[in-house]
Amino acid sequence: MSQLSLEELVDIITNKLETERGKDIKSASDQDLYYVIASIVKDVINPQWLQTQNKYKEANSKRVYYLSMEFLVGRLLESNLLNCGLLDLTTDALTELGFDPEKVYSQEHDAGLGNGGLGRLAACFLDSMASLSYPGFGCGIRYRYGLFEQRIIHGNQIELPDYWLKDPYPWETRKVEEAVKICFGGKVNMFKKNDGSLEFKYEDTDQVMAVPYDIPIVGYQNEVVNSLRLWSAERPDMEPEFLTNRSKRYYHDLDHQHSIDQISGFLYPDDSNHEGKELRLKQQYFLVSASIQCIIRSYKKTSLRSLKHLPDKVTIQINDTHPSLAVPELMRVLMDHERFGWDEAWEITRNVIAYTNHTTLSEALETWPKEMMQNLLPRIYMIIDEINERFCKGIWFDHPELREKIPQLAIIAYDQVHMARLAIVGSFSVNGVARLHTEILKKKEMKDFYTLFPSRFNNKTNGITHRRWLLQVNPKLSSLITDVIGPQWVKSPNKLIGLLRYSKDQPFLEKIEQVKNENKQVLASFIHERTGILVDDQSIFDVQIKRLHEYKRQLLNIFHVIQLYNDLKDNPNLDIIPRTFIFGAKAAPSYYLAKEIIKLINKVASLVNHDKTIQDKLKVVFLENYNVSLAEKIIPAADISEQISTASKEASGTGNMKMMMNGAITVGTLDGANIEIRDLVGDRNIFIFGLTAEEVLNYYHNGGYVARDIYNTDDRVRRILNQLNYGDFGSQDIEFKDIYYNILYHNDPYFVLKDFDAYIETHELVEQAYRDKATWLNMSVTNIAYSGKFSSDRTIQEYASEIWNLNQVL
Ligand SMILES: *Cc1c(COP(=O)(O)O)cnc(C)c1O
Repeated sequence: MSQLSLEELVDIITNKLETERGKDIKSASDQDLYYVIASIVKDVINPQWLQTQNKYKEANSKRVYYLSMEFLVGRLLESNLLNCGLLDLTTDALTELGFDPEKVYSQEHDAGLGNGGLGRLAACFLDSMASLSYPGFGCGIRYRYGLFEQRIIHGNQIELPDYWLKDPYPWETRKVEEAVKICFGGKVNMFKKNDGSLEFKYEDTDQVMAVPYDIPIVGYQNEVVNSLRLWSAERPDMEPEFLTNRSKRYYHDLDHQHSIDQISGFLYPDDSNHEGKELRLKQQYFLVSASIQCIIRSYKKTSLRSLKHLPDKVTIQINDTHPSLAVPELMRVLMDHERFGWDEAWEITRNVIAYTNHTTLSEALETWPKEMMQNLLPRIYMIIDEINERFCKGIWFDHPELREKIPQLAIIAYDQVHMARLAIVGSFSVNGVARLHTEILKKKEMKDFYTLFPSRFNNKTNGITHRRWLLQVNPKLSSLITDVIGPQWVKSPNKLIGLLRYSKDQPFLEKIEQVKNENKQVLASFIHERTGILVDDQSIFDVQIKRLHEYKRQLLNIFHVIQLYNDLKDNPNLDIIPRTFIFGAKAAPSYYLAKEIIKLINKVASLVNHDKTIQDKLKVVFLENYNVSLAEKIIPAADISEQISTASKEASGTGNMKMMMNGAITVGTLDGANIEIRDLVGDRNIFIFGLTAEEVLNYYHNGGYVARDIYNTDDRVRRILNQLNYGDFGSQDIEFKDIYYNILYHNDPYFVLKDFDAYIETHELVEQAYRDKATWLNMSVTNIAYSGKFSSDRTIQEYASEIWNLNQVL
């Protein structure tokens, strides 16, 4: 296919338009072209898909199953074209045929089956596993509705359902013949067999069919195609006894039939916030049970040896605790179906499952009411109970020094089931997602577990796929990089370090500047088209794009905007470099303060953008519906990357990595992966400010911070807070009183005021640095050069060698 000429491709497109769409070029729509190009890609990748799967079977190689409740894949056409080497040619062919390639590619609806970083990480990992020829499979849920679509109306967030399957999704293949049955509820009966072993039979269960839909995951120009398997909940075929049944279960069964559709109905839109809803627990068990049944079936098909050897052939990596029912579910299958005794089943399970922790925020730690679990998953609950018994006994006898702490360690305590504890106890690996985060896990949050199981804990700093986040989204920068250091960086992103030799090369820096300017012009016209706001493409593009959360501190950023605005009102001739502040953020629909902050940003934006007296020196843009496709538009144009979470709160961050890779300079706290970025680029090439994690944790522990003292002593802070309270942002009086109250009466839980002064000062340094073009461009190139470490290829190599013991299948 790579030898295809432009003429040949144009021919294939026009033929397919006729045979598959019944159209010619004149009558074809952008959508027709989209489907035709997707079909051409499938013609190329389907044989490779089959070959790859056969190769894995023949080699009987070990496999990794990446279980995740979220996969934030975004669009696939462009990245599939890129990975199979057809992107440039297709773009040319579409242009030749008189179409705008951009418009054709954007016909695809984002697969928004994730909330934010955690789901996007899963998608980047799939890309890296395929590109590095690892047998790695994603397992998730095919939600009919992804993360809500956000509109901003009068400054407020409005949530619309995201019905992403409205048009046929060309990448999925339904495999009804591989469906499995999932059981909920019912009763468990225990029998003692003649040999003394116990047998468990389930009665009156509610059954659901899990039907897989497979999506190809195309490796980068290596002819490897892996799979992402998304499970859909369907009604099982009705059994004859159901149709004739007139018993008391009749209505129960009807009810159940109705509730089945909900299981894969929608993605819960909560990021870092656990809500104990039964439907969510159902979803989690549905994912886990379907995936594990499928894993066991496939093992039995390819391996002739006993399931005792499962750990040699399979690792199940669970993305956060959401799939941690994998522990009792694998135990259940091994004991109840495969007739293993407890000890053997436990040995197998514990060596198959590995757990990634994503947060230490207490509100995000999952627990489920014991009773809910008992009713919904009676057999699973029995198994967890037994795991817990044995675990607690082990502490009592082997670690008397921890006896008093058993209530804080037990998997079931105070009628709650603690999923993180289950995941740690039931796995052979527990990893954090950045160095600081892992240290906090070991020394603070999970200190006692670390004492019990020191060898399980390890760090795997997150990464992003440089193919999508540099090569695909920033073709101009990519080809400039290739011009100076050659194309090897695409296969080996560490080679980006070669750019350092050019970081003071004037002609090269001028080209870097030109690329950034062109990307900014593109974004500026996109902003104009979407919002009507005219932004100066010579201004500094200061970007904060991520979920809206108090700990991420969009509030601190908007306080900086207000501060600059106040400065300009006091002194209209103030000589500042014009700035464009760009925000993108969705708030969980039930997260009141987060939505207030969105409203505040939008109110400040309309005040600032319309105030002629400040002579267009400031613009504030809130782009609605932040998702993968929007991120792809913004990131290549960013000058500044705002990574300003309250230290200790952001486990890693990956937005920071995407922007660094595109030459933005980070303004950040010493949190998450920011620390590792600084360690690489050095203090001169990043702007670090604010409290350290240690200081924050000390304040939480020992007190000593009084937000009101800052309000009382810092005139700037007092002015801003009063502006919130007195309706200065063109809104009603007291409109933002809850933000005001949260800071002054709840003592500013995320240290916005405490870090305010340092943040403002840092931005003054940013401006000074920006004025010196050569220095700024040098910083920018230095960041790109060091960003290779943050390719998810590096992360996946580390998982493969240090956790999975997985080999490439070449
Ligand atoms: C990368 C990404 C995130 C994660 O961003 P953080 O800044 O690390 O929170 C969230 N949403 C989307 C759409 C992304 O692409």
